[in-house]
Amino acid sequence: MTDIRRIQDAEVAGKRVLVRVDFNVPMKDGAVTDDTRLKAALPTIEHLKQAGARTVLLAHFGRPKGQRVDEMSLEPVAQPLADLLGDPVDFVDDITGADALEAVSDMSDGDVLLIQNTRFEAGEEKNDPAFAEALAKLGDVYVNDAFSAAHRAHGSTEGVAKHLPAYAGLSMQREIDHLVQALEAPERPVVALVGGAKVSTKIELLENLVKKVDVLFVGGGMANTLLHAKGVNVGASLCEKDLADTARAILAAAETAGCQLILPNDALVATEFKPHPETRLTSVNDVAENEMILDCGPATITALAVAMDGAKTVIWNGPLGAFETPPFDTATVTAAKHVADLAREGEIVAVAGGGDTVAALNQAGVADDFTFISTAGGAFLEWMEGKALPGVEALR
Ligand code: AMP
Repeated sequence: MTDIRRIQDAEVAGKRVLVRVDFNVPMKDGAVTDDTRLKAALPTIEHLKQAGARTVLLAHFGRPKGQRVDEMSLEPVAQPLADLLGDPVDFVDDITGADALEAVSDMSDGDVLLIQNTRFEAGEEKNDPAFAEALAKLGDVYVNDAFSAAHRAHGSTEGVAKHLPAYAGLSMQREIDHLVQALEAPERPVVALVGGAKVSTKIELLENLVKKVDVLFVGGGMANTLLHAKGVNVGASLCEKDLADTARAILAAAETAGCQLILPNDALVATEFKPHPETRLTSVNDVAENEMILDCGPATITALAVAMDGAKTVIWNGPLGAFETPPFDTATVTAAKHVADLAREGEIVAVAGGGDTVAALNQAGVADDFTFISTAGGAFLEWMEGKALPGVEALR
């Protein structure tokens, strides 16, 4: 997975370099409210500026579905990006038309130009070859720096790469290199923590992980489905009983692969799902009909810590309990602190990702101690599922 072409190897001086970035930033009333994604693009843009390239930025924003939607214009992104960069960023309200071509031909070495939301064109999401070819006319070299969009085969993430020499940007490389370090070529033993609400959304992820990791811990609501499949009565807990066969197949696959699968053996239960209800600590074998398992218990947290103490690599997706509702964040926060301690001491490589996971690690206040936290959402999950990402494949 590391055999991608890298921007450091590209000849870019004086060339027009088309860079796919992720500028799908949170915005309110036309103003960017979180510039994390803009900052992530800076190393590649600065690299290109210093090398004397003409940088043409491509990005999508929102879901305009192939039509022009004024509120989804990328124009409000140009100034905040220029402020971060400390240099002007021009914007052209066009994608592949005459205005865009003219704006590009007016550029000098070191300039940066942002073109309009690629999803205003229907050809973008359809990966229409004509659209990809038209995009390619804006550049001599293509760089993809948007890992978070790499699971989609769109014109600006995959199609255009067929027409130009294609390279991974610095942010894309950082993401891929850490995922390779955690899952494709990790230092073993590897412990994976998977949580979240449902098995149904993570079947492929579990199937792939049991083949790749040494220890798989499943927590959160999804553990209830696996416990149920093993004959445990989970009472009123969130549980996908119709997936019992699938769950048993995953348990069997783990055994075949020699992956130690750890499930919670004790739990914090309640009869009401609200902040600070009356709770009870119990073995998972003693849950009453009206009780819900809402977090892992202390014995489970200790077993998990012991497993992680023997690990060299930890990869994590999904909260281990209903972490938004106190006190059911205890297992997630305690485990997160433990991972952070081990990573800080240099004992493990710790990689995490997925929307709720990032929120949970921020809640635990330990996100900075992890080796890497992916904010790529869908692309991160598809990588964990073992799928080839079209936007990455195009860079080989
Ligand atoms: P996911 O999007 O699949 O990662 O699921 C995240 C959600 O799962 C969060 O909103 C958690 O509150 C929820 N969750 C985790 N554990 C449980 C549980 N035992 N019962 C109910 N919801 C849970």
